[in-house]
Amino acid sequence: MSQAKGLGLVSGGLDSLLALLVLKKQGVHVDAVTFTTPFFGSERAKKAAEVAGVKLLEKDITEEYFEMLGSPAHGYGRLMNPCIDCHALMLKKAWEIKEQKGFDFVFTGEVLGQRPMSQRYDALRLVEKAAGLKGRVLRPLCAKLLKETEPEILGHVDRGRLLDIQGRHRKRQLALAEEFGLDYIPSAAGGCLLTDQEFSARLKDLMEKGPALTRSRALILRLGRHFRLPSGPRLVVGRNHEENERLAELREDETVLRPVNFPGPTALLSPGHNHGDLLVAAAAVAAYSKGEGHARLTVAFAGPGGAGEVDSPRVSKEFLRPFMVRFGKETEPGAGIFAACPGCGSTARMEPKEEGGRWSWLCSACGEEAFRFTEHTGRADG
Ligand code: SF4
Ligand SMILES: [Zn+2]
Repeated sequence: MSQAKGLGLVSGGLDSLLALLVLKKQGVHVDAVTFTTPFFGSERAKKAAEVAGVKLLEKDITEEYFEMLGSPAHGYGRLMNPCIDCHALMLKKAWEIKEQKGFDFVFTGEVLGQRPMSQRYDALRLVEKAAGLKGRVLRPLCAKLLKETEPEILGHVDRGRLLDIQGRHRKRQLALAEEFGLDYIPSAAGGCLLTDQEFSARLKDLMEKGPALTRSRALILRLGRHFRLPSGPRLVVGRNHEENERLAELREDETVLRPVNFPGPTALLSPGHNHGDLLVAAAAVAAYSKGEGHARLTVAFAGPGGAGEVDSPRVSKEFLRPFMVRFGKETEPGAGIFAACPGCGSTARMEPKEEGGRWSWLCSACGEEAFRFTEHTGRADG
């Protein structure tokens, strides 16, 4: 019989690495495939494939992934991780490649009962069913605990030399790694951003309140501080030079704000903002700057609605706190702008007011003009 060809779905974790080695050892020709999106990359899979000495195919599935992420048929996990649908999508894509490239079967490194959500017995079957591949996917590490699959029945692999690993402990995997003489042991943690609390909170905010999820906006979720401003637009403020550059690169139709005469962050304000939001964004650039000692903090803005410069008052970054997108915290859309009034000293709501093109925030406690914005050129009401 000719040598069977198996395509292994590889995340780069220890289990998927071992699955490659187990099949290689019984003489199967093994290639690996890994999928990428802005939420997870291929670094770990590259390393695993290198260690196993197998060829790795990489495929970007961002488009299909976004579509699934909007309404995953089997819901999300604890955070924004749609693990069942994610696995099903990857299996489906792997199967497509198997068909195109003439592999005999697809396998994964899944271990029965390892993760609460996606690797319970019923979940393994659910994933297969959702992918339309019932009984066809081989899991070499726990195959003996499962019903015989197509590649076993067809004789592509020897079931007798497959394994029966289950549970959350890694003991048997570590022993197996030693047997294979591995000196590289991947960490257990997955490197999927959808299981990160802060990232998930930002993603949820973006998907619920807009603007629409795109590749650039998904990449921006990793960067900066994120705010949802009073009337609804999203503001992202860079945290360091590298992030500032990256934000400017990833910008789509956002208005970009940059400090002119002082060192400070780059910020992106999403479309659909009003002029009040633009001033809040300028004040945020000033607040997160190192502009101490500058009498005037001039912030330049440019976007679909226009370009210009505005002198922002120096306010404390505390005023942005109600709008910050954080895990476990709701932003307060109606919160308004609160800041310490330089006049009366109280922390009070600031009411934006325009007079002859000059904007200011009036202190609701003392009624005086607490902060003044001066615009030099242009307007951006877009
Ligand atoms: S942890 Fe992330 S990559 Fe892994 S199955 Fe869940 S959503 Fe997919
Ligand atoms: Zn006051």
